[in-house]
Amino acid sequence: TDKPIKKRKIKLDEELLAYKGVWVFVESERGHVHPVSWELMGQGRRLADQLGVELCGVVMGAPGPDLEAQCRAAFAYGADRCYRIASPVLAEYRNVPFTRALTDLVNAHKPEILLLGATTLGRDLAGSVATTLKTGLTADCTELAIDPEDRCLLSTRPTFGGSLLCTIVTLNYRPQMATVRHRVMPMPDPQPERTGLIVDFEAGLIETDIVTKVLEFIPDDQRDKPQLPYAEIVVSGGKGLGKAENFKHVWDLAKVLGGEVGASRAAIHAGWISADRQVGQTGKTVRPALYIAAGISGAIQHRVGMEGADCIIAINNDPNAPIFDFAHYAIVGDCNQVLPALGRTFAGY
Ligand code: FAD
Repeated sequence: TDKPIKKRKIKLDEELLAYKGVWVFVESERGHVHPVSWELMGQGRRLADQLGVELCGVVMGAPGPDLEAQCRAAFAYGADRCYRIASPVLAEYRNVPFTRALTDLVNAHKPEILLLGATTLGRDLAGSVATTLKTGLTADCTELAIDPEDRCLLSTRPTFGGSLLCTIVTLNYRPQMATVRHRVMPMPDPQPERTGLIVDFEAGLIETDIVTKVLEFIPDDQRDKPQLPYAEIVVSGGKGLGKAENFKHVWDLAKVLGGEVGASRAAIHAGWISADRQVGQTGKTVRPALYIAAGISGAIQHRVGMEGADCIIAINNDPNAPIFDFAHYAIVGDCNQVLPALGRTFAGY
């Protein structure tokens, strides 16, 4: 429709105005912080500066030096303050004690915005915290901004199967909660000289009150898994390759360039490559320096997983393919000829 969108005026009453500050949940497993936390810290810094409020990290876990180190890292990535909840009950992630501790902290210190990574843990925790607090949560956001007029969080995410992007506002509830997937936001540069205030919060958790127990921790072996989110170069193949054997051209070019192999969902559905290589809304988000898309149309669901690349080269035999609307370089041609030609060219360097 070309009718102008009528914006609803948001009136914040005194109770809602008592909520101040932007918080980022620092997700860690056995002392290792998930990098999405620092990406969110960078984004949180921008939001807090726009609002003129503090940026706070929330670190939770077993008592010990790890939590102190996480607070220091949070300051380096932009936090002004860290809330630290140390309890032996929080040694391993379990939904009930983490939800209880985080909701008690929110009720005590009232942030206006609470951000979590859209990881397995973050999604589990964000859902139960939002439900317990009876507030709004926008999951899997691709963009976060502040409405300058209303000071509300504008959370943008794909909708209707990814065919549209919608911007969601939490009207009369606080905190405004959002989750963001790893690699959607850029990683900020740490500033090791930054310091901040650590505030300890007593969550009063008692082990015997928690019905679930962690009996064993078996780490996932990542050695043979594709490291797509971190790859500097990704060569991806789509349905335009025509048949499974042609994926060899994608593997060959990725090898020459020292990159990772990705794929569109259509190529995965065709059985040409394993699902852990899918790039896009329901696959991985990548942020490489170079992304080469061969025989990929550029559907929005694929685009949201790779448009953060610094340079996109698209190879497609249709000059009107949607991918050419946002690629930096367009090669109109048969990808089964162009890929080997690129391989030969780069192999010479
Ligand atoms: P096609 O759309 O079939 O495009 C093939 C392209 O190759 C065309 O542009 C064609 O011109 C070109 N071509 C044909 N022959 C040649 C040739 N010889 N040389 C060069 N070019 C050629 N998709 C994802 O990729 N990732 C996701 O995470 C994802 N999630 C989804 C989630 C939902 C809820 C839904 C509904 C869909 C999702 N999809 C996802 C699917 C997405 O909508 C597209 O269907 C898919 O990305 C298309 O893949 P494709 O571009 O390889 O295939």
